[in-house]
Amino acid sequence: MRAAGDLVLGELSATAAAWPAGEADHVDGVPARLVAAPSTTDEAAAVMRIAAQHGLAVVPRGTGTKLTWGRPPERADLVLDTRRMDRIVEHRAGDLVVHVQAGARLDAVQEHLAPAGQRLGISPVLPPGAGPGTAGGVIATAATGPLRLSHGAVRDLLIGITLVRADGTVAKAGGKVVKNVAGYDLGKLLTGSWGTLGLVTEAVFRLHPLPRAARWVVVGVASAADAHDKVQRVVHSQVVASALELDRPAGDPAALAVLVEGIPEGVDGRVRTLLDLLGGDATAAGEPPAWWCHAPWAAGEVALRLTHEIAGLPRLLDAVDDTARRCGLRAAVRGSAGVGVLHAGIPAVPGAVPAFVARLRELSPSWSGDVVVLDAPPRVKTALDVWGPVRGLTLMRRVKDQFDPARLMAPGRFAGGI
Ligand SMILES: Cc1cc2nc3c(=O)[nH]c(=O)nc-3n(C[C@H](O)[C@H](O)[C@H](O)COP(=O)(O)OP(=O)(O)OC[C@H]3O[C@@H](n4cnc5c(N)ncnc54)[C@H](O)[C@@H]3O)c2cc1C
Repeated sequence: MRAAGDLVLGELSATAAAWPAGEADHVDGVPARLVAAPSTTDEAAAVMRIAAQHGLAVVPRGTGTKLTWGRPPERADLVLDTRRMDRIVEHRAGDLVVHVQAGARLDAVQEHLAPAGQRLGISPVLPPGAGPGTAGGVIATAATGPLRLSHGAVRDLLIGITLVRADGTVAKAGGKVVKNVAGYDLGKLLTGSWGTLGLVTEAVFRLHPLPRAARWVVVGVASAADAHDKVQRVVHSQVVASALELDRPAGDPAALAVLVEGIPEGVDGRVRTLLDLLGGDATAAGEPPAWWCHAPWAAGEVALRLTHEIAGLPRLLDAVDDTARRCGLRAAVRGSAGVGVLHAGIPAVPGAVPAFVARLRELSPSWSGDVVVLDAPPRVKTALDVWGPVRGLTLMRRVKDQFDPARLMAPGRFAGGI
C-alpha cells in the first residue's frame, strides 16, 4: 500500500509540487493521503489525470475557510491545493474585467484593482477567525455577502471560467475563449458545486467602479415585524442601497445597517433621506458596524444558511425564535435581508440541533425558503441531513454523471450523495 502511495507521489511530483498529507490536511475529519499544488491549468490537468488513473478521490482546497462546509467527502485521497495558482492573469481596466487563477485571494485581487479605481463586487461572509477566501472557493460555495444586493450573486459577476474535469480534460467557457462543453453554462453550473463537478482553475469576473464615498446608516430593530417594515421602507425607497444587512444576536438588541455608496454629495443626500425614512435611533457612520461581513456563529457552533423571499422575513424570524425556544437553544441571525440570504448560528447541542433544523424545515414553506446546514462539529453533523430537500436533484445527478462518472470529485459532499 505504502509502495503504491510512493509511486503516485513520484508521478505527481514530476508534474507539480506534491507531498504526503498530514493531519492539517484532513478534510472535515476525513484523512487525506496526498497533497498536490499545481501552479497552472496544465499542471492541474496533469495532476487530475494521474489521480483519475489511480482512482483517487480529489478534494480541491483554497485557503480552507469553508472546507468543512457541506457533508464530509466519502474519501479525500488527494487534496488539490490551489495556493500556487494565485496569479492575476490579466486586468483589463478599460473593459472592467479581471482574469485570475482560482487560488488568487480575494483581498489580493481587490488590492490589485483599487489603484485603477475598480473592485470585484464580492464581499464574502467570513467564518470566525477566517481570512479572505480564494476566487475558486467563492465560486464553489456561491458565497456572497452584503454587496450582493447591488452587484448580484457570484454567478452574475462570473463571465468566464476554466475548469479541469475529473478525467483531466480542460474545459473553458466565456471570457475571451469560447470552447464550451456543449449545452452547459459552465460558470452557472460550477457556482455552488462544492468541488463536486470539477476543479476551477481560472475565472474571469466583471468589475465595478470603486465608489468614492461610502456611509452606513444603522438603526435599531425592535421585533420581526419592525425588521420587515424597515427593510420594506429601504427596498421601496429611491435611496438605491448597496447593501442592506440585518444583525440579530441571540438575546441582544437587533439592528439593520444600510450601505450607501457613490459620489460624496449624492451619498450625503441619500443618507439624510435614509435617516428620515428610518427615524428613531438611526445614525450614520463612515465605517461599517463591527459585525459587517462576519458570520453570526462562533467557532464550534452550528452554521446555517436560511434563504427567504423578501416578504417572508418576519415569518422566518418568528419561526427561528419559536423553534429556538422549543429546543432550548439561542439563535443568532445575520445577513442580507435585502436579497433573502441570512445566516444563523446555534450552539452545537447534539440532541437539540436536529430537532431545531427539522422544525425549521417544516415551517420553511411559510417564508418560501430553504434551511441548509453549512457547518457543524462532526459529532453533530453525523446526525443531520445537512442539505435537506434539494430541488432538481435528478438533474444534478445527471450532470454529475456526465462530468464525473467515476465519482472522484469530492464524492458525497453534496445532497443526494453527489
Ligand atoms: C452536481 C450539481 C449539478 C447542478 N446542476 C445545476 C443545473 O443543471 N442547473 C442549475 O441551475 N443549477 C445547478 N446546480 C446548482 C448550482 O450550481 C448552484 O447551486 C447555484 O447556481 C447557486 O446559486 P446562488 O449563488 O444564487 O445560490 P444562493 O442564492 O446562495 O442559494 C439559492 C438557493 O439555492 C440553494 N443552494 C445554493 N447552492 C446550493 C448547493 N450547492 N446545493 C444545494 N442548494 C444550494 C440555497 O440553499 C438557496 O435555496 C448544480 C449543482 C451541483 C452540485
